[in-house]
Amino acid sequence: MVTSRRGFIRHTKQREVILSVLRGTDTHPDADWVYQEVRKVLPNISLGTIYRNLRILVDSGEAMELAFGSSSSRFDGDAENHYHFICEQCDNVYDIPLPLDHGLENEAEEVSGHQVASHRLEFYGVCKTCSNASDSPR
Ligand code: ZN
Ligand code: MN
Repeated sequence: MVTSRRGFIRHTKQREVILSVLRGTDTHPDADWVYQEVRKVLPNISLGTIYRNLRILVDSGEAMELAFGSSSSRFDGDAENHYHFICEQCDNVYDIPLPLDHGLENEAEEVSGHQVASHRLEFYGVCKTCSNASDSPR
């Protein structure tokens, strides 16, 4: 059917734009930021469509969702497991380019008896930008 085919193409195009916006930044944005950026290319897109497509990208393994406590989810166009640092002052999320510690998974398995398949690790503290700002003379 022509209409559903056209609809399918349109949805795929939206998802492509969303994914390219996500892959074009290393700031781990929330859905609102993605919405503002995608609107520059697709002015008629709705926030609901952004949320729905982000969900599809996360479920299909093309993007990663980072949920930190009560604040809104952040999204990462790099879906390979990697470590993050969260600044407790500005809430920015940074990549930490450390190799994954698979030894930790073995240890967790040994002490618990569970089959450990993966792990996630987040570091918290004050980022370089924030600590430089508070060090600078005023
Ligand atoms: Zn900071
Ligand atoms: Mn990341």
